[in-house]
Amino acid sequence: MELPFAESYKIKMVETIRKSTREEREQWIKEAKYNLFNLKSDQVFIDLLTDSGTGAMSDKQWSEMMLGDESYAGASSYYKLKDTIKELLGFEYFLPTHQGRAAENVLFSSLVKEGDLVPGNSHFDTTKGHIEFRKATAIDCTIDEAFDTQKLHPFKGNIDLNKLEEVLKNNPKEKIPFVIVTVTCNSSGGQPVSMQNMKEVKALAEHYDIPVVYDSARFAENAYFIKEREEGYADKTIKQIVKEMFSFADAMTMSSKKDAIVNMGGFIAMRSEEWFRNASVYNIMFEGFVTYGGMSGRDMNALAAGLREGTEYDYLNTRIRQVAYLGEKLTEYGVPVQKPFGGHAIFVDAKRFLPNLPKEQYIAQTLAIELYLEAGVRGVEIGTLLADRDPKTRENRYPDLELLRLAIPRRVYTNNHMDVIAAALKNVYDRREEITSGLKIVREAPIMRHFTVEMEHL
Ligand SMILES: *Cc1c(COP(=O)(O)O)cnc(C)c1O
Repeated sequence: MELPFAESYKIKMVETIRKSTREEREQWIKEAKYNLFNLKSDQVFIDLLTDSGTGAMSDKQWSEMMLGDESYAGASSYYKLKDTIKELLGFEYFLPTHQGRAAENVLFSSLVKEGDLVPGNSHFDTTKGHIEFRKATAIDCTIDEAFDTQKLHPFKGNIDLNKLEEVLKNNPKEKIPFVIVTVTCNSSGGQPVSMQNMKEVKALAEHYDIPVVYDSARFAENAYFIKEREEGYADKTIKQIVKEMFSFADAMTMSSKKDAIVNMGGFIAMRSEEWFRNASVYNIMFEGFVTYGGMSGRDMNALAAGLREGTEYDYLNTRIRQVAYLGEKLTEYGVPVQKPFGGHAIFVDAKRFLPNLPKEQYIAQTLAIELYLEAGVRGVEIGTLLADRDPKTRENRYPDLELLRLAIPRRVYTNNHMDVIAAALKNVYDRREEITSGLKIVREAPIMRHFTVEMEHL
């Protein structure tokens, strides 16, 4: 008999979570103004709001915490992290920051100016926020296949080279500070970018003399998909694939809260000494001195260990198979989910789930609230709320996809939890005909409104 699959780790420490009643949840979500970010964590049974900073550190990472060097300048922890980044990712220069958006803030402060264009694949919300905040424009060049949730394509994060070339060829080079490639592509569903595409993007950008920056939060999951799906990579290690991926980038921003399995942290890494010097000024101003940049020594140690563990095949295989396990269960129940399954999350196609709800009523948010009421499971809307308003017209931007994202924290939940999530969504699916009205906004911020929006049931 073939042995079944099992996790590549065992559990040393546990944290108690508590179920609640539907009556309690109805009260709580009303008090939270139908914004799941406003819930207290103990009002949630299974928390799939994000996989960011919610992972479980290993015994090795915790022991590294004790070895942290808290010197203001030149800490050994800084050098440990610097050497790890050089070895695994291949970049000579690096700046620590307190998280991914801080890396964007620092790097973009030195590179992006008013009127600039930043082409890329479905820019992440903070990335787009930092571009638009500087009165520049993010241009989405993702392949069209990404916008059909049922279409099978192994690399839905890919950049459409024709769309990219249109931007590069029709604008002066001074207006395009860099091309940004997001690996994996969060906003299009945790979908990977192929090595071939990375190579071609680099060649095209180089032809127009424009640098390439990777938004790298889930670079290791991207490498796993390359190993599984792209010809010629099956026998390479994740670490070899990662090294090759970054060979096609001039710089990277990193949210370490994702694939580096720490609870807080980020960094920028680059090849150019000039970029490093320019960004250092902003790092000192916004984050901290260049050898700590918003991170404790102990956190830099845990991050260095996390980068090594996060690029181990066995860990990634356990993680990505758990996400797929949930996706398969939901598919079995008939729930429309994006395919192929993403690396860090399952994305429920809310438009297909609730076809009778008009787009003005926040379809994916309505579904997220229903799932919470059903079982205390907290997902997150990736739809009209997240898409914000057009910065010029102030009209709602209705994205092609209305998704409910179920992000799976790393090394935190078991497959029994996945079974509960799937059953809860099936129950909502079975009564979908009864869900005939959605939500309206009563208060919102001018940018990144989804974090603080206040809503009412229609
Ligand atoms: C999370 C994330 C960011 C921002 O990082 P934070 O650590 O949350 O500030 C940027 N880009 C991508 C693709 C991300 O997933």
